[in-house]
Amino acid sequence: MSEMTGELTGRCAVVTGGASGIGEACCALLAERGAKVVVADRNAERADAIVATLAERGGEALAFALDVTRSAECDALVAAAVAWAGSVDMAVNAAGIAGVDAPIVALGDENWRGVLAVNLDGVFFSMRAQLRQMAAQGRGSIVNIASVLGLVAPAAEDGAGYVASKHAVVGLTKAAALEHARSGVRVNAVAPGYIETPLLDGVPAEQIEAFRALHPAGRLGAAGEVAEAVAFLASDRSAFITGTVLPIDGGYTIR
Ligand code: NDP
Repeated sequence: MSEMTGELTGRCAVVTGGASGIGEACCALLAERGAKVVVADRNAERADAIVATLAERGGEALAFALDVTRSAECDALVAAAVAWAGSVDMAVNAAGIAGVDAPIVALGDENWRGVLAVNLDGVFFSMRAQLRQMAAQGRGSIVNIASVLGLVAPAAEDGAGYVASKHAVVGLTKAAALEHARSGVRVNAVAPGYIETPLLDGVPAEQIEAFRALHPAGRLGAAGEVAEAVAFLASDRSAFITGTVLPIDGGYTIR
């Protein structure tokens, strides 16, 4: 790899939602720094393609197909990573969906449960499996991908399921960090502003313009900018940081 630093050589990372957007950028950066990366996603074809690309660049990666709403598959991911690499040293929980935009009074049961199932249950099931392994190892770092909408209410009043799920991920991150503070396992979250990824595909141009205006920086973020912070929190460079939620948002949460 052209810019491989080797800082993470000998470490294994699992990344859920690793086949697209922020998760994909995390896979690329962690692999570039020498980690063995398990690209875990419900889209097996895209995960395979990313593994092939990483391998072409000299990285070591393994594809794993899973649906994070199924706890047994989250357990199996950790088992597969341990069988492949011997340990799970870093975990990035990025699998998530935008959910349905509707005012609460019009939000159906299925839509509510759907977004909570992926964005909250999925992080819980993933993290529970990762924590069991990491606690046994006495070492590990987990980074959950929350959102600015895990910290503040949205400008538009129609994303209650997503907002609730991301606030819950922030709470879950803090609870897990405290539970494991003495076990050598750290748990942090990042709170990205709007990031240009396939998650925003299909959003009308005028809506994207409105999103842009919410960021004092005057632009949306790039997945690679989130990955930089995730890699920092996942690595030993952040050894004394646990239970934090780091906004990566071009100033979105300043006001
Ligand atoms: P993407 O849609 O680009 O990537 C998410 C990936 O997760 C996709 O490959 C998706 O597959 C996969 N996935 C979805 N549901 C499941 C599931 N049940 N099991 C396994 N994999 C699943 O989105 P982003 O990269 O933008 O989002 C990543 C995370 O970042 C999410 O948690 C999102 O909420 C958060 N985030 C995103 C922001 C943004 O503006 N983009 C802002 C703040 C936070 P598929 O394509 O099939 O759905």
